[in-house]
Amino acid sequence: MNSADITLPDELLPHDGRFGCGPSRIRPDAMEMLSGSADHFLGTSHRQAPVRFKVSEIRNGISELLSLPDGYEVLVGNGGTTAFWDIATFGLIDARSQHLSFGEFSSKFAKAAAAAPHLDEPQVITADPGDHPLPEAADGIDAYCLTHNETSTGVAMTPVRPSGADEDALVLVDATSAAGGLRFDASETDVYYFAPQKCLASDGGLWIAACSPRAIERIERIVAGDRWIPAFFDLGIALENSRKDQTYNTPALTTLFLAAEQIRWILENGGLEFAAGRCDASAATLYGWAESHEVATPFVTDPAKRSHVVGTIDLDETVDAALVAAALRSNGIVDTEPYRKLGRNQLRIAMFPAIDPEDVAALTQCIDHVIGQL
Ligand SMILES: *Cc1c(COP(=O)(O)O)cnc(C)c1O
Repeated sequence: MNSADITLPDELLPHDGRFGCGPSRIRPDAMEMLSGSADHFLGTSHRQAPVRFKVSEIRNGISELLSLPDGYEVLVGNGGTTAFWDIATFGLIDARSQHLSFGEFSSKFAKAAAAAPHLDEPQVITADPGDHPLPEAADGIDAYCLTHNETSTGVAMTPVRPSGADEDALVLVDATSAAGGLRFDASETDVYYFAPQKCLASDGGLWIAACSPRAIERIERIVAGDRWIPAFFDLGIALENSRKDQTYNTPALTTLFLAAEQIRWILENGGLEFAAGRCDASAATLYGWAESHEVATPFVTDPAKRSHVVGTIDLDETVDAALVAAALRSNGIVDTEPYRKLGRNQLRIAMFPAIDPEDVAALTQCIDHVIGQL
């Protein structure tokens, strides 16, 4: 049967068909709030009180949501996480970094550090897709670079400071798909950075970084030195602007607004425990379904490493995952395709806090229906 000819019965459909890993589902309530504030927020200056207040809401809200220890500061800037990798090579790594590379995103930061002419060759510890390595304390490493959730493979790890690391070494954590959905201990991290188009149910283009006093010291020391740093990548400028609740250049106001809304929604409902609990419920449904399935299996074999925000499900050779994703798409259930470079016969499903756990259950029934029809 042609996948486009499969019509899912209405009673099986989820309420919302968005299961993509970024940009991801935005709650309709947040969109309503946005249009309600359109004429006094959108189209107004980012140097004036209404927008600066929104930035301050984000900075304070993130401190509360992530339970940041005293002295941690939240920095914001433009360019998303990919820009932040370059920012980190200019303004956070002193000389030599260690990178855990276990998928597309974690490998990209390692490449950026390797390409920077002012840095020594980084140490890269790799693991096969579907697994993750652990950081190893080593002399002369001044930045340990971890990824809380590798979005390309659906592997999550616990961010920890390697024991025996140099006293002033930093732990930098890419938390782009984890922040606001996975539990962690902020005191184990020095820079926990992310973009808001995933767990924060916003649009892209912004980076947010929760920085420890040790990280702030490093930033200030590097910008005081003689390293050439383009202004756009200068964390000293970002720090100065963030403290005034501004970004260096014009931010996307919609992104700020929706991120602030999602943070508020999570905090009002109980904070990170509420959000992570929703992700746990979705993950229990998805992995439980796959484990007892004839043709589906969780890609990540170790249950402890399975992400509760991004699920990757392999299908056996009797079913073409691309056809399943196409049939779902023609029924309004979108973005279940696997990460393209992973190249597996797989579905990848976001389970961010904004995605209703009941919709994840409905999705599994829809997949069963499509497989039956194919
Ligand atoms: C999405 C993602 C990125 C890229 O974020 P951009 O804002 O598009 O640059 C980086 N790292 C991880 C872990 C991601 O999930």
